[in-house]
Amino acid sequence: MGLEDRESLRILRDAVDPARGSDELIRRFYTRWFAIDMSARDLFPPDMADQRMNFGKALAWFLGELVDRRAHEPVSVLAQLGRDHRKYGVTQRHYDSLQSALLSTLRSHLITRWNDRLEEAAHDAVALAVGIMRGAADAEKGPAYRDGTVIEHLRVTRDVSVIRLQLDAPLYYHPGQYVMVQVPQWPRRWRYLSPSIPADRGGAIEFHVRAVPGGMISPSIVAETRPGDRWRISSPHGGLHVDRDGGDVLMIAGSTGLAPLRTLIMDLTRKAVNPRVHLFFGGRFPCDLYDLRTLWHIAAQNPWLSVTPVSEYSVDPPWAKDYPDVQPPRGLHVRQTGVLADVVTRYGNWSDRQILISGNPDMIRATKEALLAKGTPAERIQHDPLP
Ligand SMILES: Cc1cc2nc3c(=O)[nH]c(=O)nc-3n(C[C@H](O)[C@H](O)[C@H](O)COP(=O)(O)OP(=O)(O)OC[C@H]3O[C@@H](n4cnc5c(N)ncnc54)[C@H](O)[C@@H]3O)c2cc1C
Repeated sequence: MGLEDRESLRILRDAVDPARGSDELIRRFYTRWFAIDMSARDLFPPDMADQRMNFGKALAWFLGELVDRRAHEPVSVLAQLGRDHRKYGVTQRHYDSLQSALLSTLRSHLITRWNDRLEEAAHDAVALAVGIMRGAADAEKGPAYRDGTVIEHLRVTRDVSVIRLQLDAPLYYHPGQYVMVQVPQWPRRWRYLSPSIPADRGGAIEFHVRAVPGGMISPSIVAETRPGDRWRISSPHGGLHVDRDGGDVLMIAGSTGLAPLRTLIMDLTRKAVNPRVHLFFGGRFPCDLYDLRTLWHIAAQNPWLSVTPVSEYSVDPPWAKDYPDVQPPRGLHVRQTGVLADVVTRYGNWSDRQILISGNPDMIRATKEALLAKGTPAERIQHDPLP
């Protein structure tokens, strides 16, 4: 039976699903794995709570797809995971020890129900998942990551930094894609960042980073990054894009959510004819609109681009004077006051546009909901995956 045995697969899925209380099982799996392969422990950060949750969710999703007899998406997701995991230093040996630790944990956890059918289904499902990941990782010939040196760190406002690096070798990505980044202050903790310039043959790359209050990594990137720091950068992901034949474009950027949209705009400047692009760039205070001058320069040269600055408050706080003046010369649209979701939908539902939203998860959700409530078709709206 094996992968045909939907009943056994369902039992396995329920056992590993965090929503059904799988924490103990997943905890035991990692303990067993690290006991039989100590080198696997070094792949992970000290606190494993997020890792356990993500692993449980991914495994439950995979087994659920097998129950529903859907193979296409699991294969591509697992292949991508396998390619990605190379950057953590996962080797073929780790896959062997993972497979055997996972199988024996499932067996001992489900001992009262274990039988030949469960054994066969568990064996086949785990072998399939691990096989896809290791096969894809093995087939990938390019480097697992790029290292680069910070050459410039600009504090552009109280909580946003622009950080420029020189990579040891160029990294190719499509405009609008994101990467994962590991900084020396936090080894083995990777965070997503979106390059704010198109891929550069000479290996230059730039990121805009906002310190999230209470966050682990972003405040230390903003406070502690120094020229000379060595960063590690993964291969790119994501599909945010402008369809050049898809009509006019609406872009909505909150704070450093500007980065991928700016990259797309910069890429468009290299083409002779473009759709019209209207960008709303929002922040809390006027001084948070840290990149208005660059946007003003681009709009001044490229009549297809128009930019509306938006801030929740109309005046700057006292600390704004400690940071660069961001006001561009006259010529941009007049700054609007309000939250992005409200300001953008004041102009209608933009349903004739391709709409790209980028920013923190709350901002993306609120803006998308406001557009949908106005009648914008969901398929016109793009954004990066939400947590
Ligand atoms: C596809 C993608 C691209 C991204 N690109 C960029 C980028 O170019 N520049 C950039 O500054 N950030 C970007 N981020 C966000 C970034 O990856 C981190 O999530 C963010 O910096 C917080 O990390 P942290 O370790 O400081 O916080 P954590 O310790 O991971 O989280 C602390 C708390 O903050 C919340 N949180 C997480 N992210 C955000 C956020 N963005 N805004 C508000 N609250 C948040 C978490 O839910 C948690 O409650 C991107 C995220 C994704 C998914």
